[in-house]
Amino acid sequence: MKKCKHCQSEIDTNVKVCPVCGKSQSIPTWLIVIIVIAVICVLVAMVGEGDTAGKKEQTGTTTKEENLVLEDGHSGSLDEFGAFYYVEGYVKNNSDKDYEYVDIEFTAYDSEGNTLGSCYDNTSSLEANGRWKFKASCIDETDKIASYKLKEINGY
Ligand SMILES: [Zn+2]
Repeated sequence: MKKCKHCQSEIDTNVKVCPVCGKSQSIPTWLIVIIVIAVICVLVAMVGEGDTAGKKEQTGTTTKEENLVLEDGHSGSLDEFGAFYYVEGYVKNNSDKDYEYVDIEFTAYDSEGNTLGSCYDNTSSLEANGRWKFKASCIDETDKIASYKLKEINGY
């Protein structure tokens, strides 16, 4: 014997409908639907959190801004023929990691601050705590370049 969920009458354990009040003893469909939706919401929230945690970890290990640093004292100049403009300097690897590939990119500007193009160099090796002497060549309208700015350093 058990008690009816609705009227508390003593009824047979196996009946699905209470003979006293006529109400169903099984879990109502709407309750099942709500439970299922709630479970899905919890799962989605957990997966979402997992994603965020994964991304945080990734940015934690990809500390290229700190690992690969453009040292002060870099400079840009036209070559003796006026054909190429080069940005030269050093990138220091401040990590204990050997990089298999590193590249550096600058944006070149004319005297009015208009972007002319980019200057680029790469290397296939930069050892742990090593320095890379780069020479980034600019190819667009090199005779008009008045200034440049570091765009990015990438490495892996
Ligand atoms: Zn009942």
